[in-house]
Amino acid sequence: MTGTRTFFIGGNHKMNGSKSMLESLSKGMNESVESKENVEIFIAPSYPYLDFLSSRLDNKKFKVSGQNCYSVAKGAFTGEISANMLVDLGIPYVIIGHSERRNVFGESTDLITKKTKYAISLGLTVILCLGEQLDDRKSSKTEKVLSDQLKDFASFTPEEWSKIVIAYEPVWAIGTGVVATPQEAQDTHVFIRKWISENVSEDVAKKTSIMYGGSVNAENCQNLSKQSDIDGFLVGGASLIAADFITIINSAV
Ligand code: PGA
Repeated sequence: MTGTRTFFIGGNHKMNGSKSMLESLSKGMNESVESKENVEIFIAPSYPYLDFLSSRLDNKKFKVSGQNCYSVAKGAFTGEISANMLVDLGIPYVIIGHSERRNVFGESTDLITKKTKYAISLGLTVILCLGEQLDDRKSSKTEKVLSDQLKDFASFTPEEWSKIVIAYEPVWAIGTGVVATPQEAQDTHVFIRKWISENVSEDVAKKTSIMYGGSVNAENCQNLSKQSDIDGFLVGGASLIAADFITIINSAV
C-alpha cells in the first residue's frame, strides 16, 4: 500500500453465518481491533443479518456492506435488493460484480455497470470486483479480460470514480486456497492502475484503492500488504473466523 490511498479490508461472508456466529465475531473484533488512520474495515454479511450485524459491531471502527444490489429503486423484482434499502439502513458500501454473481448467476458486465452507476448515484461506495479465470491467465488473456470488465467505466466521471474501490479477485484463487503470489497480484494491480490512468485520468488512477481478494489468510496477508499497489483485501473464508480476520486486519500497516 502507499500512504496516500485508503487501505480497505472487507469480509465477504457470502451465504454463510448465523446470529450466534456474528455475535461472537463482533465481540472479538470490537475488543481486539484498534482504529488506524486511512484504514477502513467492513463486513458484508448475508442479507438477513445486515441490521443485526450493524447493531453489534462498534460502528466507530467498522462498517457493514451489502453483497449486491439491483439497478433500480424498487418494484417487482423478487429476491433482489435495492441500493435505496441499503441507504435507508445507513449502509455505506456494496459489493458489485463478484465473480460468483458473474459466473454462477450470469450477471453481465452491462448489468454490473448499470448497478454500479445507480448505487453511486445514491452515495454508496461500490466495491467493484474484477478477475480472470484460470484459462484466461494460462493463455495470457488476463489483461484483455480485465480491460473488457472495465471498459464501460471509462465514461464514469472522476466524482463517480471517487465512489469506486476496485477488488481484483482472480477467479482461480477464490475459495481454492491457491493465492496469487505477491508479485502476480502487484503486477495485475499495476495493470489495472495503468488502465485507469490511460482511460480515465492519472489523478483518478493514483487515488483509486485496489484491493486483492482470493484465498487471503492470516499467513499470506503480510507479504501481500507490502506490495505498493495492493490497497486492501477482500476476504471470504478467513473472514468467518474471528482470530484469522483480526490478524488480517492488523496486517494493515
Ligand atoms: P476467499 O473468497 O477469500 O474465500 O477466496 C474471496 C472472495 O470471494 O471475495
